[in-house]
Amino acid sequence: MSTSVRFDRGHTDDLMSFLTASPSPYHAVANAAGRLEKAGFRQVSETDAWDASAGGKYVLRGGAIIAWYVPENASAHTPFRIVGAHTDSPNLRVKPLPDSGSDGWRQVAVEVYGGTLLNTWLDRDLGLAGRLTLRDGSHRLVDVDRALLRVPQLAIHLDRSVHTEGLKLDKQRHMQPVWGLGEVREGDLIRFVADEAGVATDDITGWDLMVSPVEAPSYLGRDRELLAGPRMDNLLSVHAATAALAAVASSGGELTHIPVMAAFDHEENGSQSDTGADGPLLGTVLERCVLARGGTYEDRARALAGSVCLSSDTGHAVHPNYSERHDPTHHPRANGGPILKVNVNMRYATDGSGRAVFADACEKAGVPMQHFVSNNSMPCGTTIGPITAARHGISTVDIGVAILSMHSARELCGADDPYLLANALTAFLEG
Ligand code: ZN
Repeated sequence: MSTSVRFDRGHTDDLMSFLTASPSPYHAVANAAGRLEKAGFRQVSETDAWDASAGGKYVLRGGAIIAWYVPENASAHTPFRIVGAHTDSPNLRVKPLPDSGSDGWRQVAVEVYGGTLLNTWLDRDLGLAGRLTLRDGSHRLVDVDRALLRVPQLAIHLDRSVHTEGLKLDKQRHMQPVWGLGEVREGDLIRFVADEAGVATDDITGWDLMVSPVEAPSYLGRDRELLAGPRMDNLLSVHAATAALAAVASSGGELTHIPVMAAFDHEENGSQSDTGADGPLLGTVLERCVLARGGTYEDRARALAGSVCLSSDTGHAVHPNYSERHDPTHHPRANGGPILKVNVNMRYATDGSGRAVFADACEKAGVPMQHFVSNNSMPCGTTIGPITAARHGISTVDIGVAILSMHSARELCGADDPYLLANALTAFLEG
């Protein structure tokens, strides 16, 4: 398949809207839920009793969403086909007492979240987004989507060694954004955010706020064959998984399994939270699905033993300026199709039978497949795949899309790859 072939840019256009509308994990799961609602899915509450009814359902918890589609003929031990992803991206997050500053500058105190490429946040127009908790316990999303903050880089005249010794950034001292001039007043930031969200400041009893680049995603390149944008690690996969699950649920085809999408929070700091892949959320949802249909422990064990998970996350395309950092014979390219990620030391969960599952899905979808493996001299990253495999005993395959500048505030990928991934995920969920 030629890499110059243009596929469905409608999918990538829609991904761009999804990225823009999802400056925080809370926004991402709300937007995924909105798309699933349009495909007939309905939210179920974790605190209600679940029933055996067929159809599309989803659970929202913080920045995580688990959605599944129960076909009419499902038995108590029908296995699951799961696409896993994560909703969080490395960024800067607002500290509990955020109002700070010096020398007439007003600043916002932030904490670095995940493995952020710090330099990419310098001299960028930044907005502020996240979730407010109100006095009655409800949540309100807020998105100040305009140039509000900036982490200003030091002028070269005051940093003469930057070219010889490299840029040195201290997370605490050098990453605090400015957001205007004037006296530092305690409570100012939250009063401002309350105003933007249209709620009374006194009503806000908690918040989870983060900084986000306001520059919109864009096509890039001679033939617009690339896509530049924020948070593609890993909203690209969340968006593709949502589209795939909605398509499978709407197709009305015979299913011998229950298709599931699981998008977790907190992957970028190790997944250990009540909404992370290392928490009980997925296991609890799958178990309750079995029990709601009258299943026993035996049915649960049978269902999980027959289940398989594709864990989709971004991987590294070969960087033209640093090709020696990659394995010499495994060179994933932009627009070359989704990648199968292998690491025999189980930084990725893929094995030979997992490869077969993904190769089959790609073949059915008519999508080319590429292979990623690390150069032995470079430590390999990891993702939620091995955690899902170890925690639930579900056979798991790590896959994804090859990008450049992973963990930058603005990443880069092939503009056709998101659509190719979504097609492969759809074929996998169809079974
Ligand atoms: Zn990721």
